[in-house]
Amino acid sequence: MPMFRPLPASEEAPALHVRTRTPTVFRAAAATWPAVKDWSFPYLASLDPGLPVQLVAGNRETARTRFTSSTLGSYIGSLTRDAPSDDAPAYLKEFDLLKKFPQLRADLRSRELFPSGTIRSSATWIGPSRARTGLHCDLLDNLAVQIMGTKRFYLAGPGAVKRAGKESGKYDAWARLSLVGAEELAAGQEHGGFFVVDLEPGDVLYVPAYWWHEVVNLTPGVLLSGFFGPRTRVLSRWAWVQARECLHRAGLLGRGDCTCHDHSDSGAGRRSPGSA
Ligand SMILES: [Zn+2]
Repeated sequence: MPMFRPLPASEEAPALHVRTRTPTVFRAAAATWPAVKDWSFPYLASLDPGLPVQLVAGNRETARTRFTSSTLGSYIGSLTRDAPSDDAPAYLKEFDLLKKFPQLRADLRSRELFPSGTIRSSATWIGPSRARTGLHCDLLDNLAVQIMGTKRFYLAGPGAVKRAGKESGKYDAWARLSLVGAEELAAGQEHGGFFVVDLEPGDVLYVPAYWWHEVVNLTPGVLLSGFFGPRTRVLSRWAWVQARECLHRAGLLGRGDCTCHDHSDSGAGRRSPGSA
């Protein structure tokens, strides 16, 4: 991957660095969090093994959106047991682990991470080796904490996908999508501005709003994302997202081509719980 340069690391406090609006990795910034030191797959599964979970099958950003069903215990049990032979590994995405199990908040040190005065929304990404989120950009800044496993991020600057004429019309409430993956995009462009970084447990990554990124698990893992911003910015984006959601639910925007409804033949119309 000669086009992808290693993402610079920063020793600065994340809450200060984010003012620069440049993506950065903060190595081991969360290494002392109890979540990083103590959580394991068997522990997470034991919290409520029978809890129903809905999984995304494969890369819904560039392929057809498909969901499958499982339980927390069965799914997490499969992460380390099954060889990753499937081309479309099932992925538990945008899972609100902290809402389901509020006691886990005691294992985080989020207040040390985020700028004061901001509001934030967290979710977890729990998946096997090779689970992938296709190239997209989010509408809010993100400070993501790698809790378990190793995850690779490919990043490209805010203008990269538009320059290549590869913007996707597929609907997603909180993100914009690309028609191609990061490697294909980088291969076609002379501009620099393409980065890669592998997160290890305890690493924190800052992805500014509108920076494109594609993400793939190198091992089974758990990532905690934290979308955040000043109250006025978050609330105004939220209002805009809700207005678009109303149009989408009414079938007036992104009908038949979205990341939140199942478009496989067997599950037409089913919504992802995370997108409601
Ligand atoms: Zn939808």
